[in-house]
Amino acid sequence: MGTGDALTLLALTPRETEQAFERLGARPFHARIARAQVFEHGALDYAAMSALPKELRARLAEELPIASGSEVDRRVAADGTTKLLLRFPGAKAVDVETVHLPPSTSGKAATLCVSSQAGCPVGCPFCASGLLGLARNLESAEILEQYVRGRALGALSRSVVMGMGEPLLNYERLARALDVVHDEMGLGARAITVSTVGFPDRLRRIAPTKPRFQLAISLHTPDQEQRDLLVPAMRGVPLAEIVAAADDWFEQTGREVTYEYALLGGCNDSAGHAERLARLLARRRASVNLIPWNPVESAESSPWKRPDEAGVERFRSTLAARGIVATVRWSKGVEADAACGQLRLRHAAPAS
Ligand code: SAH
Ligand code: SF4
Repeated sequence: MGTGDALTLLALTPRETEQAFERLGARPFHARIARAQVFEHGALDYAAMSALPKELRARLAEELPIASGSEVDRRVAADGTTKLLLRFPGAKAVDVETVHLPPSTSGKAATLCVSSQAGCPVGCPFCASGLLGLARNLESAEILEQYVRGRALGALSRSVVMGMGEPLLNYERLARALDVVHDEMGLGARAITVSTVGFPDRLRRIAPTKPRFQLAISLHTPDQEQRDLLVPAMRGVPLAEIVAAADDWFEQTGREVTYEYALLGGCNDSAGHAERLARLLARRRASVNLIPWNPVESAESSPWKRPDEAGVERFRSTLAARGIVATVRWSKGVEADAACGQLRLRHAAPAS
């Protein structure tokens, strides 16, 4: 795998794992047993793998650790939402958040929300990750480790790549990790959602590769000038081009695209915005997720407020009257969250 990966089991392909095991005097089937324990049960050390000879377990622990990261903090909310803060040493040590939403909070399915980068270079002013900037990309193994640690908290039926970072700016590493999640953890393409600000050229490059996930595009406004401010790294990229790339995505992959719209009170939540959004998305089967803004701590002099329920409902029904189905994602489990402005229950995609 990537040259930057530390030598851990998570950094290896199934074949490479067998080879590494053979170098340590083990048999290929031992490697398969170990990988099954890791991906199907969330095992993070060899000690409890009783199907492996004891002596081999000790040698593996020395020579081929499973993962490189460590858990530095864990918050559990009253509703069971668990936020993990993970530290990855790598080229530069970084802390990254992963959130596990138990079935009771996210509908029928246990959902894991993972990060694709440490921080984010896109710079959206309403988002905690945007305010931090990018620390570094995550390696495939580091993305995968979030899944394994999430699995250790309980069975997973869905996953959303909606944590820190912009997935399309670290796409190759993400795609490699998601292939393992699909093949060895058994999460189907419909159970994985990747959320992006929607770089059209990248979407057009990725669609023909038949990616095995659902796509969500963060739109946030129907007005070009306002989008340039809300999603700074996309300045000048026409909204119409993003929507056109999403249409092509649907055509090529056969999977419908969802649009996300963070509702910033007093900014993008007027009736006019809803009307123009409906016009932008007219005549396509597009569903919209409305995410009432979660105030970000460090944005002290924030020009926005969290919209109230009545305002959100007005926005939703204005869209509905124009044929656009929108679902509101109120955050719960907020008490699990100390610093991050986004890793929250609202990210749980519908339990379809
Ligand atoms: N970078 C990707 C994925 C991570 S963010 C993206 O932007 O799509 C996932 C979603 O949460 C995005 O729609 C994002 O705009 C939204 N979001 C981020 N911070 C938020 C906040 N404080 N309140 C509400 N939504 C937020
Ligand atoms: Fe990055 Fe997404 Fe946050 Fe924007 S909303 S700064 S793209 S993580």
